[in-house]
Amino acid sequence: MALSNTFLSALSRLLPPNSVLTDPGECLSYGYDNSRQYSSPDVVVFPIHHQDVVAIVKLCHAENIPLVARGRGTSTTGSAVPIQHGLVLSTEKMDAILKIDPANRIIVTQVGVTNAAIQKAAAEHGFMWAPDPTSSAYCSVGGNLAVNAAGPRAVKYGTTHENTLGLRVVTGDGRDFYTGVYTTKGVVGYDLTRLIIGSEGTLAVITEATLKLTPLTESKNTLQLTYDTIEAGAKAVSAIMGQPITPCALEFMDHSAIELVRSQGIELPALARALLLIDVDGPMNALPEMLEAISLAASIPGLIKIEKAFDKESAQRLWNSRKALSPTLRTIAPRKINEDIVVPVSRLPELITTLEKLSKRYAIPIVNFGHAGNGNIHVNLLFGTPQETAALACLSDVFDLVLSLGGTLSGEHGIGILKKNYIDREIDPAALALMRNIKSQFDPKGILNPGKLFPTA
Ligand SMILES: Cc1cc2nc3c(=O)[nH]c(=O)nc-3n(C[C@H](O)[C@H](O)[C@H](O)COP(=O)(O)OP(=O)(O)OC[C@H]3O[C@@H](n4cnc5c(N)ncnc54)[C@H](O)[C@@H]3O)c2cc1C
Repeated sequence: MALSNTFLSALSRLLPPNSVLTDPGECLSYGYDNSRQYSSPDVVVFPIHHQDVVAIVKLCHAENIPLVARGRGTSTTGSAVPIQHGLVLSTEKMDAILKIDPANRIIVTQVGVTNAAIQKAAAEHGFMWAPDPTSSAYCSVGGNLAVNAAGPRAVKYGTTHENTLGLRVVTGDGRDFYTGVYTTKGVVGYDLTRLIIGSEGTLAVITEATLKLTPLTESKNTLQLTYDTIEAGAKAVSAIMGQPITPCALEFMDHSAIELVRSQGIELPALARALLLIDVDGPMNALPEMLEAISLAASIPGLIKIEKAFDKESAQRLWNSRKALSPTLRTIAPRKINEDIVVPVSRLPELITTLEKLSKRYAIPIVNFGHAGNGNIHVNLLFGTPQETAALACLSDVFDLVLSLGGTLSGEHGIGILKKNYIDREIDPAALALMRNIKSQFDPKGILNPGKLFPTA
């Protein structure tokens, strides 16, 4: 879509110098996200203040220009890709932390700040913001809010939903308001805050957020457990979650993931077919008892070895295996479908064993690992272009399997482009119709992140 000179001049007048890109070369990287999908934006803008965003959205609304809000482009689903071209609104210059309020356990921030910067600012006061995606160093708080991101410690401390008190937003026709509270309780009116969280930029552009802080715990220990079958490893997850001590991370790796880790020179027991990495946090004097309770629950038939780490360096060594995984996946096959499905924890053994069967049936290697304490597994289908049809058929069966086990298609990455044509398998037609109506209330002309989330008509 060629944008008119009048529109571009109006944009330039709204923003400080060097805040508008139109050169295709300069705009190029804003057409990608981590899904490797691409579509070129016509223009990229860098607002600094909330009122800049209001003015940009009003202009796009008046001129019917598609608008995609963008944090740092680490989305894995194509949700940040401007598939209908138009304008990309990058929040990277909206990176001011506005207020740190330890007495109320709150940080108020602009949304372009990275997750890691929030963690650092909170830690200086003895707090953390619970959402800790592995991409923390790169991703923005706005992106975390828009997809309801989470990480390993969600099993104990919850996702972005549970750790956000309020938002300042701009709807698709330029109305702006604060939604939510500055308190840890509040039930006045419909909960628009949690409706907008996870809406992938389709309802409103978020400009500021009031985040709920959690005290950092006194100490943390790590356990690495290996099992001789995948089933034993998956059963151990249910056993751990079935007793009262909640770990602050409970990660799972299947045998293919273990092989990948080994290929990076990290040593693991020879017979290991499944691996659990567990963090336990709490007051120092309570930790030995908590570790004992978890080790006891995890000591089921098939356990090969429990390794314990009591200091930061040894814990880091154990976590290296998990951190080595994502980057090495691309070494197996040129293409990868990376899903983030969730099943009830008690159904994990069935999920993992059936995934193995699907992998054999379609001759598509599948590597499984992830946040098992939440039943959230990253299912990675690895293939070359000639196997694409088989991989997509396999993926379709994976989604049916997940739904048959009482699960959901995405735990943290969201829908974007890549999953939009599957969501009607999970969401009731009446609910989907209501969602479309809600979208049109927030964004009457449908300019916000068009072509995402909803199935193609
Ligand atoms: C190596 C790696 C590891 C990852 N690990 C995890 C993980 O552990 N857990 C996890 O949950 N995710 C993970 N992710 C996915 C990704 O990092 C998260 O989804 C993150 O929240 C995206 O943030 P972003 O700033 O990059 O957003 P972007 O990719 O720029 O955008 C994502 C979506 O948010 C919308 N959006 C962005 N900002 C706004 C705004 N201000 N207002 C409205 N909508 C907005 C965009 O339109 C888009 O729909 C990982 C990704 C990578 C590459």
